[in-house]
Amino acid sequence: MVKPVLPSAATQPLPPQQTEAGLRLQQYPPVDRWDDWIEWDPKAWPRKVERHYMLLPTICFNCESACGLLGWVEKDTLAVRKFEGNPLHPGSRGRNCAKGPATINQVNDPDRILYPLKRAGRRGEGKWARVSWAEALADIGGRIRRALQDGRHEEIMYHVGRPGHDGLMEWILPAWGIDGHNSHTNICSSGARAGYAFWMGFDRPSPDHAKANVILLISSHLETGHYFNPHAQRIMEGKMAGAKLIVFDTRLSNTASMADAWIAPWPGSEAAILLAIARHLVATRRHDRDFVRRWVNWEQYLSAEHPGSPLSFETFEQKLLELYGRYTFDFAEKESGVPARVLEGIAEDVAGCGGRLAAHNWRSAGSGNLGGWQVARCLWFLSREAPRPTAGTSGCRARTRSLPTSRAGTISPGRASTRSPISR
Ligand code: SF4
Repeated sequence: MVKPVLPSAATQPLPPQQTEAGLRLQQYPPVDRWDDWIEWDPKAWPRKVERHYMLLPTICFNCESACGLLGWVEKDTLAVRKFEGNPLHPGSRGRNCAKGPATINQVNDPDRILYPLKRAGRRGEGKWARVSWAEALADIGGRIRRALQDGRHEEIMYHVGRPGHDGLMEWILPAWGIDGHNSHTNICSSGARAGYAFWMGFDRPSPDHAKANVILLISSHLETGHYFNPHAQRIMEGKMAGAKLIVFDTRLSNTASMADAWIAPWPGSEAAILLAIARHLVATRRHDRDFVRRWVNWEQYLSAEHPGSPLSFETFEQKLLELYGRYTFDFAEKESGVPARVLEGIAEDVAGCGGRLAAHNWRSAGSGNLGGWQVARCLWFLSREAPRPTAGTSGCRARTRSLPTSRAGTISPGRASTRSPISR
């Protein structure tokens, strides 16, 4: 009979990871042991050799979610051995997507750039020379300085891949007197971002999905079209707590597959649907009148657009209905291809959100369509009108700057679609 290499489970000593609670399965090492966390060396098996780690909080930068990570640093060598989620990070709470732990590839990639390189040949020749940081900064900074001194501001352009400075460059670049700010998101999410930024000055709102009764998502938000892991996990929390999930998406995405109601509107027609829902709320008097009265610049609107009318909130509501009167469900059906009765059902869900609507729009509807940025703008308009300020949207509501209409060029009435909606 072959003798077992390891003793039986009953006689086997507990691994060093065991917590005081006596649990042998746990998600994360307890924080009070992050300075000296011990694991068996798997390569030494079947011998039991301890490896000691420091678990150092850091941030994943493989997308702008900036989830928390723990870098596992070997105490003997100070080498980073792996990355795992940081359970204390308030956004990601230790739940990362696969790209988070994959950060180790960036640390160990033999082709990673370790120091500044300066082109040493003609452009495209592939010749580079190593320079010091001081030399690189003096060179680049000197050129920027000379351009500013010469008044050649338009010759300076800042391009960033993942803008992780969270608004800092929005201070620095205007201080330099230049507006040449570019990033790779000009291609994908800029349409959604512009709609938010023009409306409220911030391009990445975070609705409180976890506490919502109704979650309305345009495009994909569960780790695909929208990359925000902290949103994705809270959307699922909200859904598991009973929230209704409504999704507008042209494809059966991860998000659409989780929806209680999924519609596939004709691309670019989402704004028409949102305006129809908003009109329905106002027409049935289920919009949040107190919020609109307090936060919307309706006095300015009336003074500018209807100077002879009484300056009262009731007049504003009447003008609002007239302005949006043509955005009926029939109109939205013609635009989107989704039957009016389905759209009205969605509007009723929004109207019945009980003060808890969480809504978001990202890439698919906002990009690739002329005027796609208006989708986010119309969604913001709807969020503002939704019944009662909610846990999900009150923190994100902003004072209205202007009312979205088809005059801005998004909606071309009469465009029909043969697209069959898939819903309910
Ligand atoms: S969502 Fe994924 S890639 Fe983005 S920061 Fe979080 S772990 Fe990193």
